[in-house]
Amino acid sequence: MPVRFVIIGGGPAGNTAATVAASLGAEVTMIERDVVGGAAHLWDCIPSKAMIATGGELTELARASTMGLEASGHLDVVALRQRVTKIEKQLRDATTALLESQNVRLVHGTGHLVGPYTVVADTDDGEVEFEADAVLLATGSRPRIPEWADPDGERVLTTRQAYPPPEIPDHLVVIGSGVTGVEFTHMFSALGSQVTLVVSRQQVLPYKDAEVAAVLENEFLSRDVKLLKGARAETITRDGDKVFVSCDDGRRAEGSHVLLCIGSIPNSDGLGCEAAGVEVNEQGYIPGNRHGQTNIPHIYSAGDVAGRLPLSSVASMQGRKIAEHVMGLTARAHRHLDYDKAASAIFTDPEIADVGMAEAEAFAVGRKLRVTKVPFSANPKSLINGDPRGFVKILSDPATGVVLGGSIVGQNAAELISVLAVAVTNGLKVVDIVDSLLVHPALAESLAEAAY
Ligand SMILES: Cc1cc2nc3c(=O)[nH]c(=O)nc-3n(C[C@H](O)[C@H](O)[C@H](O)COP(=O)(O)OP(=O)(O)OC[C@H]3O[C@@H](n4cnc5c(N)ncnc54)[C@H](O)[C@@H]3O)c2cc1C
Repeated sequence: MPVRFVIIGGGPAGNTAATVAASLGAEVTMIERDVVGGAAHLWDCIPSKAMIATGGELTELARASTMGLEASGHLDVVALRQRVTKIEKQLRDATTALLESQNVRLVHGTGHLVGPYTVVADTDDGEVEFEADAVLLATGSRPRIPEWADPDGERVLTTRQAYPPPEIPDHLVVIGSGVTGVEFTHMFSALGSQVTLVVSRQQVLPYKDAEVAAVLENEFLSRDVKLLKGARAETITRDGDKVFVSCDDGRRAEGSHVLLCIGSIPNSDGLGCEAAGVEVNEQGYIPGNRHGQTNIPHIYSAGDVAGRLPLSSVASMQGRKIAEHVMGLTARAHRHLDYDKAASAIFTDPEIADVGMAEAEAFAVGRKLRVTKVPFSANPKSLINGDPRGFVKILSDPATGVVLGGSIVGQNAAELISVLAVAVTNGLKVVDIVDSLLVHPALAESLAEAAY
């Protein structure tokens, strides 16, 4: 009899696990209460990057005169909204078609465990019960709303109400300067809003390389983004068309809209974890071991709800590894995920991407490092593209030459970091990059130069 694998949640973690397990012969049921593709497609990665792409085109148009062109841009908010919706629909259709081609049973409803081997879906047609040999909890997360904020979807917004908001804000106050906060700051300033960014620490992106954060801060300042550093928001009040954010140091920011970018909370409530004996930690996450198994071995958790690294790319990879484990493929060339080697990117302008060891962390523990950094200003392709901002930095082991990490700031950084990600994951050496015959002219030539 095939393995009966029931998955709750159809985001990147759930749908990847479903496709892989089905292709390996499992009988897969995936329960999704909203849309296939998950919050990643509906609210998070895809709409934010679609809007950033439109903002990027506007910025390019503003730079067009430096390329010998005359151009002007007018933002059509209705067309922008249609574009965002169309992309999500295209991705949803493609993902659904893939799942259906693998005979995954798709159930539209809200799932919960009623025992260790039984999952119930509340559907429009009533409750449906499924027996399972293995279960995956992949229910994602949702924006955190502090007790001092009361989003109204009009002028006080969560990230889910900003695609696009009812109108492009005249003046947006963004609370929170982690990855989401800086991406929204970039997005709305590119779309024409005045932006004030409330930064609770002394630098934006507090957990990133200080040099990288400084490039972004300078870029924001050059676009008249106001940075309120060292200020923790405490209250939001609305007066007609105006909103006011008061901070713990007495400063006050005024704008037309406020956007909360202060993290997320896991969707583990109402999942029936207690009924199945699955442990949920104090923060509400459902932790798993290196195979993704919770304390109940045939019940797995993946993606944001598992509380490791909240990235869509990580969620998909966890889903794949879990599907392989469920199907007993651990003996194959099955590598465990090494979260320290995950590449990530911030889709600002310039883009920022990094992978592996961070320079400050390495120095803090006294680790010897070879650090090489080259600016894009010497790269022919970046001059041709008319955007010579940024740099490539590669960290390697001085004794062995093994690539340990790197950061890229500049055009296409999110694509270029893949080269370093392959090197870091596979223990390649700087000489492996240097000896590769690359394309000319290409931004990637700066990688070879930094590796030399
Ligand atoms: C603004 C923003 C931008 C982001 N951009 C990026 C990016 O560019 N790149 C990147 O890698 N990551 C990005 N992320 C993070 C990324 O969105 C998440 O890490 C990713 O969505 C996690 O995938 P998941 O499968 O765990 O959950 P989700 O994508 O959240 O999917 C979970 C699904 O489970 C469903 N569900 C929940 N409970 C139930 C239930 N009881 N029954 C049935 N269904 C249920 C939900 O409806 C949802 O569809 C971004 C996050 C935010 C907030």
